[in-house]
Amino acid sequence: MDSLDRFSNRFLIEGEIELKTPMRIGGGQNAAMYSLSPSPVIECYDAGSGTFEPYIPGSSLKGVLRSTLERLVRTFDVSQCCVCTGDRNEGAVLCGKESCISCRLFGSKNGGAKVRIRDSHLTEECRTTKDRSAFLREQPHFGSPGGGKGRMRPEESVSAGTGFRFHIDLDNGTEEEVGLILLSLREFNNNRAHLGGGSTRGHGFCRVKRYSVKKLWLKDGALSNEKVSGKDCMSAAKRYLAGLNGSSDNERGFDRYWRAFSGPVDRFDDGHVVAMLKVTCLTEFSMKGLDETTVTNGLGPVIPGSTIKGFLRHKLEERETDRTSMNSIFGGKDHRGRLIVSDAWYDGKKEIGKEKIPRNSELRMFMVFDNMTKDEMDYVTDLFDLEVQITGNTSAGVTRNSHDNAKNKVKMHVEDVKRFSAREYLAE
Ligand SMILES: [Zn+2]
Repeated sequence: MDSLDRFSNRFLIEGEIELKTPMRIGGGQNAAMYSLSPSPVIECYDAGSGTFEPYIPGSSLKGVLRSTLERLVRTFDVSQCCVCTGDRNEGAVLCGKESCISCRLFGSKNGGAKVRIRDSHLTEECRTTKDRSAFLREQPHFGSPGGGKGRMRPEESVSAGTGFRFHIDLDNGTEEEVGLILLSLREFNNNRAHLGGGSTRGHGFCRVKRYSVKKLWLKDGALSNEKVSGKDCMSAAKRYLAGLNGSSDNERGFDRYWRAFSGPVDRFDDGHVVAMLKVTCLTEFSMKGLDETTVTNGLGPVIPGSTIKGFLRHKLEERETDRTSMNSIFGGKDHRGRLIVSDAWYDGKKEIGKEKIPRNSELRMFMVFDNMTKDEMDYVTDLFDLEVQITGNTSAGVTRNSHDNAKNKVKMHVEDVKRFSAREYLAE
């Protein structure tokens, strides 16, 4: 049995995370000292440069890795680990049992964590960027509490393209446990896990750009170390998952991938689906930002995920979609929405500037259908491959007299669909 009292080995997992879409980890009350934004992101003071910089607190990364690992393992067998948050009636929140992988690795009230995650700070490449606006900016967010009329408030976020260095220690662990952590990190690249808040309107999509694993241990009183193959660790973790009993895939909570053991009939079928979409601008697109001619993600102009989501909601309401489906897709009083929509960003080589997105530009975006039914997905996918005006009339320049010159018309088209299937997951 592992004991934290005696050091037998330590694995170091280090690497780089790069944001694909803006990220928001709120700064709370202490943020006022470095930001004038009413809704700032968390920052830390760097004595070297004498400036405040965004970072990812170790506790934030630990939280998302824990829930991602729980989701993966519980898809294969719910008895192997509990959930850190969620339905307390289930009696399976932070169980603290030695047999529970999640409590063993990440800790519980019964015992300390084997995993320690340091704060992730900017990569050297980002840190040497002189222009602070290159990685921090304010974006308008149209919140509509209680489904009322939308109110605009400025919200700070860290720009797409920003890179952070992460550092994870696993004490007295096994290659299988390292593999489970790596598989959880890989869920970022699969677009099924997201960093920070606002993920349902597309914040916090990211990818692990590079990583390495090193093992340290004591040999005759001296510390030895060697490089470990991440691939071998992930294979060991998959052998473990494959050996589990297999859970019923009927539960539609967020603590597992729904219908992971059922064969789909259609590419948009009951389950967890990530779609990559191409968005073609049939006219030019622009939408006034706070300090910007048109909203950007820090790198270039975008159609914000919240705008696209707002459009979908409006259309589905117009089509008198039933209340139960609307709540499931967009969220209700006590649960988040199942539809996650990212920004649509320009993906071409040609320079397009920061003023607008020109006509005929091709953008890319993700839509995640998080444990949705085929029917719920159909409501949304019915709006693909049509000419649609993605913003309200004011942004689109529609007046009583001129309907023809309206801008912000786009067409969304599915390019790639990936549904979580247990069999495929273990084989890839
Ligand atoms: Zn537990």
